[in-house]
Amino acid sequence: MFSNAEIGIDLGTANILIYSKSKGIVLNEPSVVAIDINTKQVVAVGAEAKEMIGKTPQNIVPIRPLKDGVIADYDVTAQMLKVLLKKVSKKAGISTRKPIVVVCTPSGSTSVERRAIHNAVTSYGAKNVHLIEEPVAAAIGADLPVDEPTASVVVDIGGGTTEVGIISFGGVVACNSVRVAGDRLDEEIILHIRKHYNILIGERTAESIKMEIGHADSDHEEVNMEVRGRDMVTGLPKTITISSKEIYSALKESLEQILDTIRATLEDCPPELSGDIVDHGIVLTGGGALLNGIQKWLSTVINVPVHIAPSPLESVAIGTGRSLQMISKLQKAAK
Ligand code: ADP
Ligand code: MG
Repeated sequence: MFSNAEIGIDLGTANILIYSKSKGIVLNEPSVVAIDINTKQVVAVGAEAKEMIGKTPQNIVPIRPLKDGVIADYDVTAQMLKVLLKKVSKKAGISTRKPIVVVCTPSGSTSVERRAIHNAVTSYGAKNVHLIEEPVAAAIGADLPVDEPTASVVVDIGGGTTEVGIISFGGVVACNSVRVAGDRLDEEIILHIRKHYNILIGERTAESIKMEIGHADSDHEEVNMEVRGRDMVTGLPKTITISSKEIYSALKESLEQILDTIRATLEDCPPELSGDIVDHGIVLTGGGALLNGIQKWLSTVINVPVHIAPSPLESVAIGTGRSLQMISKLQKAAK
């Protein structure tokens, strides 16, 4: 019997993941599109396009259409989705003909932006498109008991935004979003190296510094890394050695902003649920959960247990996939 494919999409600002009900995660690519500005043609999508950042000739521009957590460029997002869905159907052998799709929308997006996402997926030929709020998807994917009358707190530190959500009985009780996350940390590293060494480094280099020696906790064993960039005085390439303690101080202020958002959300929590948070703590998801020392630092400053989700980069995609199963159950029940 022919049945429509069921797929979940995590339309993240840094990475797009596609989850198929039958095969699990079938695509995981950076949300980057390279466009030829003369012909307006898409030249590359995903990993191939990310590889081009900072290295392309002038007519080819790598764009991150979701950079600030919302669809900054509707047409490019729609094109990117189409290319990636096509790739999935070819590579993973999944029929994407009239699929039933659950898309997680960056929370904090307006109704106009949500409609844009809905339309982009519908224009691909989806039969049904359901939108799910990001913190709910992240919590489901992190194995939290979202349907129970107990508070689950998810802090999702992505590329463009950090979302903090308190979920109980399947719904969002309190939620805050701040446009400070992985991208901002990269920017702070670029600024630091420019200010202290007069050296310009690219986004990709900054991201690898963050992943390798970035640290959220001042108390850690210092490590060094060699970094290459362009000397702003001589204009020539130069190699310098930077330390994890310096990167820690460059990241500190942004991490404090994330902390403030977590605190503000916990303050919004209904008192009946506050006790649950003291017992169960909070769960970190998104790529930012992988920053060295973040679990230790957060647990000391907010004084509740802090856990890291099993696969933080995949929590939302897994959550959209699991929510598909709930939707199909509901639809069967309605028939
Ligand atoms: P989004 O949901 O917005 O697409 P993700 O959850 O995929 O974002 O996370 C992407 C962010 O996580 C990027 O800024 C990336 O640099 C960061 N990231 C990934 N791995 C690590 C790591 N090991 N340490 C610190 N940051 C990381
Ligand atoms: Mg995300």
